[in-house]
Amino acid sequence: MTFPDADGQPNVITSAEPASADDMPISTPCSEAPAESADRASVYGRYISSAAWQTSPARLAELEASGHRCRLCFASRREARLEVHHRTYRNFRCEAAEDLTTLCHPCHLGVTGMERFRKYARSPFKPPPPTPAAPPPPALFDYRSPLEIA
Ligand SMILES: [Zn+2]
Repeated sequence: MTFPDADGQPNVITSAEPASADDMPISTPCSEAPAESADRASVYGRYISSAAWQTSPARLAELEASGHRCRLCFASRREARLEVHHRTYRNFRCEAAEDLTTLCHPCHLGVTGMERFRKYARSPFKPPPPTPAAPPPPALFDYRSPLEIA
């Protein structure tokens, strides 16, 4: 999809899924019940690809407020693919601009990875503890005198 930015330049917006998901009926934002976990990723993907998200006033306001640059590394849309990150899903499909942050794709991956790490760090299912470190190797030389060794 292409939207003009503040300078009148075309602002190519890419998404993780093909644009054919635009046909998904998202006619009543904010009114649908939260999806069950099994299809949550599917619902999310369709929404992110939808015209409702691409033209969301909150999303466009955040892009404008950020100057169409990554909020972390300041990359422009010419330098990297810009994405709009959900800081919270509390208002999913009815986001406010403050729920969103413009990030480039690499920073978005880093932020979501860090958030997942924190989420799973709080999870009761923790990974097994690391194996203990191997004992230090023996010294190459014994500097004691032969009388001390014996
Ligand atoms: Zn960035």
